[in-house]
Amino acid sequence: MDLKDLPDQWDLIVIGGGITGAGIFREATRMGMRTILIEQRDFAWGTSSRSSKLVHGGLRYLKEGHFKMTKIAVEERERLLKEAPGLVESLKFLLPIYEDQKPGKRTMQVGLSLYDLMARERQHQYYDREKFRKLVPPINSSGLEGGFEFLDAQVDDSRLVLRLIWDAVAAGGRALNYTAVRHIHRNEDRLVAGVEVEDVETRETKRLYSPAVINATGSWAEHLHPSPDPHRHLRPLRGSHLVFPASALPLTKGFSFIHPADHRAVFVVPWEGAVLVGTTDLDHAQNLSVEPQITEAEVSYLMQGVQSMFPSLNLSLQDCLCAFAGIRPVLSEGKLKPSEESREHVVWTDRGLITVTGGKLTTFRRLALDALKAARSFLPPDVKLDRKAPVFDEVPQTPPLGYGLTPQIWRRLYGRYGAAAENLVRQAKPRDLTVIPGTHTIWAELPYVAQNEQVRHLTDLLLRRVRIGLLTPEGGKAYLKRIRKLCQNALPWDRRRWKAETRAYRQHWTHAHALPVRLAGVPAKQRIFALPFLGKILSAIYHKFFTHKQRGRIL
Ligand SMILES: Cc1cc2nc3c(=O)[nH]c(=O)nc-3n(C[C@H](O)[C@H](O)[C@H](O)COP(=O)(O)OP(=O)(O)OC[C@H]3O[C@@H](n4cnc5c(N)ncnc54)[C@H](O)[C@@H]3O)c2cc1C
Repeated sequence: MDLKDLPDQWDLIVIGGGITGAGIFREATRMGMRTILIEQRDFAWGTSSRSSKLVHGGLRYLKEGHFKMTKIAVEERERLLKEAPGLVESLKFLLPIYEDQKPGKRTMQVGLSLYDLMARERQHQYYDREKFRKLVPPINSSGLEGGFEFLDAQVDDSRLVLRLIWDAVAAGGRALNYTAVRHIHRNEDRLVAGVEVEDVETRETKRLYSPAVINATGSWAEHLHPSPDPHRHLRPLRGSHLVFPASALPLTKGFSFIHPADHRAVFVVPWEGAVLVGTTDLDHAQNLSVEPQITEAEVSYLMQGVQSMFPSLNLSLQDCLCAFAGIRPVLSEGKLKPSEESREHVVWTDRGLITVTGGKLTTFRRLALDALKAARSFLPPDVKLDRKAPVFDEVPQTPPLGYGLTPQIWRRLYGRYGAAAENLVRQAKPRDLTVIPGTHTIWAELPYVAQNEQVRHLTDLLLRRVRIGLLTPEGGKAYLKRIRKLCQNALPWDRRRWKAETRAYRQHWTHAHALPVRLAGVPAKQRIFALPFLGKILSAIYHKFFTHKQRGRIL
């Protein structure tokens, strides 16, 4: 769409198409405001497609005394589980307890009981060593005392962003991707008057007018408005994950363990047919406009952790499907270690420009309501904040008969596409109502999203509308021909454009998602860990002498 065809005047302009911007956009359109969302790359391109995909209270925040934040996150988790079945799903987690390891059984018992109290339901259980081993047969049992099972939840993060955006668009909002806000305009009284936007590909520009602008640009927030506290600034912290096929790392429940090297909590999470291992937490010094990548040291750290926990699986780097890295928007005074920094959000108000940053995927609704509350005096006088209104309208899950899809597939489709799930299936050819190997995605999702979800590039389609770029070998290289066939009617690309898109996607994938090292280039220490049998022996020795002597920290 040409920018010149857009209306000039808006009640609210939201900058940033991650979870924070999408949450604000959804709430604002529910309140009946004329709202536009502007994203400089693709929707969810930033951190919001690169998280650990957990909707969780964050047990570790309890230890750091952030009770309020954990309580809010647990409440939001419970609400999302009720409102978005098929998109946000509960996930059982296992947490082993080793001899001499901190936190020990008693501390974890207290933490998990508090967690249950916040959820108003008993959701955890302790198993002795033998029972726990049966729950996770490949676990390193040396020094194992037993372990806990507790409940949390998970999500497809970019689909959560997209569901909010499309619901808001259906309620009358406009959302532009590949459009950047270049400038915030103010009037002679320094009150916000609007923004200058630019289509980053066509270079077309336009001025949009509104007395209220919300800057929801995550790690980029200080580019549009500097922190009002000279001692507290955004500290970009990189977190990376490795992705394994379920065949190599066969866990059906989430698993949380203390990493032997630095005693941080690391997650192993089954997700969409694959298994994620993460995350790291490091200062990110690179330019934010460059796609973040996992480093060799991070690969080595995550491999060391997972190998020490599951030595019998003989996991090696060759098993790994890919990696992804994201940048946490964290407010910092620069004194703490990355993992000790608070994940709480902040709201800064400056005469019509409201900046909201920090926070978590899980608490997006709270961020949205806090930002809109701060913007209230610049919004139309009749709009009302309703903190109790559901985020997602209820979608009756009454699948039409005769398509041969399992109830789980229907549930997942309703969760992702809302009521449009039925059209997606009705429009599909029968052979496309099958699951793409190694994933939970069905082929029919591809032409649907290509047609209906503002896809500009192949990277948008394969990395954020569906996630097969992360879930299948070499970013789905073997499927690219079929994908082209499926989507060529929906995407107005000629042969040359398809070729260029395919080349750009492959290059992008190699830069951002391939491992920085394959075995050939791995330093000797990592190569040893990556060799199946030596890795097993060494990690067993490592575990015996180091891991259960460790003094870890609570999750
Ligand atoms: C490794 C990792 C794991 C995590 N795991 C979890 C988890 O499991 N659960 C959880 O609850 N939270 C998790 N988080 C935190 C969570 O992912 C982030 O807090 C959240 O995604 C931030 O969303 P955001 O919308 O504020 O920022 P982003 O998602 O980064 O969105 C900001 C957007 O603004 C756009 N933008 C910037 N400047 C402009 C401009 N001038 N014009 C237009 N657009 C612009 C960017 O392109 C970007 O898309 C994790 C974070 C990381 C890094």
